[in-house]
Amino acid sequence: SEKIIEVRGLKKYFKTNKGPLHAVDDINFYIKKGETLGLVGESGCGKSTAGRVLLRLIPPTEGEVFFEGENILDFNRRKMRKARRDMQIIFQDPYSSLNPRMSVEEVISEPLYINKIYKKKNEIAERVKELMDTVGLSQRLVNAYPHELDGGRRQRVGIARALALKPKFIVQDEPVSSLDVSIQAQILNLMEDIQDEMGLTYLFISHDLSVVKHVSDRIAVMYLGKIVELGDYNSMFKNPLHPYTQALLSAIPIPKIDVEQEMIILEGDVPSPVNPPEGCRFYGRCRHRMDICNQKNPELFEIEKERFVSCHLHNKN
Ligand code: SF4
Ligand code: MG
Repeated sequence: SEKIIEVRGLKKYFKTNKGPLHAVDDINFYIKKGETLGLVGESGCGKSTAGRVLLRLIPPTEGEVFFEGENILDFNRRKMRKARRDMQIIFQDPYSSLNPRMSVEEVISEPLYINKIYKKKNEIAERVKELMDTVGLSQRLVNAYPHELDGGRRQRVGIARALALKPKFIVQDEPVSSLDVSIQAQILNLMEDIQDEMGLTYLFISHDLSVVKHVSDRIAVMYLGKIVELGDYNSMFKNPLHPYTQALLSAIPIPKIDVEQEMIILEGDVPSPVNPPEGCRFYGRCRHRMDICNQKNPELFEIEKERFVSCHLHNKN
């Protein structure tokens, strides 16, 4: 199916007094219409920065982001304002992302006012009602304030707000990480239902592979600013290729897949993203490392159709 998002050579470096911090360092991937791409990695690997640069919430250092075939990084303000309606984000902590002085109705309707979608107040009220139904919020809460709601309901408000402008693509940045486990599945199921109903495309960012595996069609694994492996859910879980993916997967139980599971304990520290090593960034922790790994960065390449890996074990050229 068609690609709705395509990221090419995307970089985001931050200036620090010790040199540039390579938060996102030349990542390449695409997302197909209607699918969920999971982006997984440890905290600090650059996945949240990638999500924000992708939406142009922060400017990239280099690269291209195509949305429906057009590079949004070239857009002027007017075109970007329009593109923003189609591309939304849901944050981890709905409490800090919602204005505490705004009622549920005000939070949800704000994007409608800003974008002048409706002319009449009652049309807006009607749309807010509809959105509250969509996300399973009782109409009784229309005048409530964020602090009066529990975490799950606050996240539903955040979702309703993100849906207000009928987007096509949503970045979900750790959308359930701050919620009780009992609530997490409800929110994930809700997002899945909404996706099916509205034909939405998601980038789902999480440090938690056991959550990512529930929602993703394909998964990209990120390590220290780079994507080290990318592939469809099944083949990656059956046969992880990158030593880092193997270690991540070994740490979570995989029910239906009948393989001997040995927990791989990673030793060594993640190197600093400031002046990262020349060669493979996983070198210091890899149990398969070879001489070449320390000298040459392994490029991400397509080893099979739609299966990408960056590791010298697999790239024999
Ligand atoms: Fe390990 Fe080398 Fe592969 Fe890096 S390139 S993951 S060090 S084997
Ligand atoms: Mg789905």
